Amino acid sequence: MIVVMKSSASARETGAVLQQIESLGFKPHISSGEERTVIGIIGSDRKVEPAAFDGLAGVERVIPILKPYKLASREFKQEDTVVEVRGRRIGGRQVTVMAGPCAVEDRAQVREAAKRVKAAGATILRGGAFKPRTSPYAFQGLGKPGLEILREAADENDMAVVTEVLSVQDIPAVMEYADILQIGARNMQNFNLLEEVGKAGKPVLLKRGMMSTIEELLLSAEYILSKGNYNVILCERGIRTFEKYTRNTYDISCVPVVKKLSHLPIVCDPSHAAGDRDLVGPLAKAAIAAGADGLIIEVHPKPEVAKCDGAQSLHPDQFDTLMKEVSAIARCVGRSI
Ligand code: PEP
Ligand code: MN
Repeated sequence: MIVVMKSSASARETGAVLQQIESLGFKPHISSGEERTVIGIIGSDRKVEPAAFDGLAGVERVIPILKPYKLASREFKQEDTVVEVRGRRIGGRQVTVMAGPCAVEDRAQVREAAKRVKAAGATILRGGAFKPRTSPYAFQGLGKPGLEILREAADENDMAVVTEVLSVQDIPAVMEYADILQIGARNMQNFNLLEEVGKAGKPVLLKRGMMSTIEELLLSAEYILSKGNYNVILCERGIRTFEKYTRNTYDISCVPVVKKLSHLPIVCDPSHAAGDRDLVGPLAKAAIAAGADGLIIEVHPKPEVAKCDGAQSLHPDQFDTLMKEVSAIARCVGRSI
């Protein structure tokens, strides 16, 4: 349920509505748009009687949100959410590029990757210190020392850091070094982890699970939003289908569908969708043409010797070329990098 306030409603009138929601045992969530304030009433499955707001000054109307996700829906918030990270904006007219290696391997690798991707126009450095690997014998990441390396390389290049948080116990360490907490595809429905990153308060990059529907993605975002963290960036990274020539099937339609259903920004990860560096460029360009708010791309100074995902990692020179092409496409759709 949402309470739409009149554009003329005063702070006192809004305050009275908030009080009424709390006295009914629900948690209010406020969305202050340019035009008017909307208050979401979120709590349990218990029904709220619209009549409870009858006669309260400043209330224009009380309407139900029909979608199962509430705070993530366009019904709750019509304007696009713009997530601010260290002075950069994700969403709105901006196209933001996050790039770097799949995994943090050593200081020299990350420093070189950061320098190159920054020079090409990326503003957020990616890299996994905690890696979710299919095999327990594969490289699992450097852990905390990896976070330190990432932060140092990002600071040297005036970049923000996005890195994966694999489990609740890693949240404090990742909070210390990262600007955006990444929830990987395999953890999209780890509800406990979603709630904890919701409470942690830093922006979250939520990747779509490889077997998840768009509705499930939005419901997972809802877990984070419902804990009061509204800075969620969604990420399409490909889903599993019967197709074998790509690592995953890139669901480009996820972008316009999410834009229709939700106010949250969405970025695309062509690297994990493709699994092959030759395909990354076309998929990256398609994302921006389709309206994505940004990209997350794997780039490695020497992909041939990468400990993780070398086949889908771009050489820095390829990333340079791609960034020029992506900028041109961004301009065509009225946006800029
Ligand atoms: C990653 O970004 O390195 C990663 C592991 O991605 P995903 O969770 O999408 O597989
Ligand atoms: Mn990877």
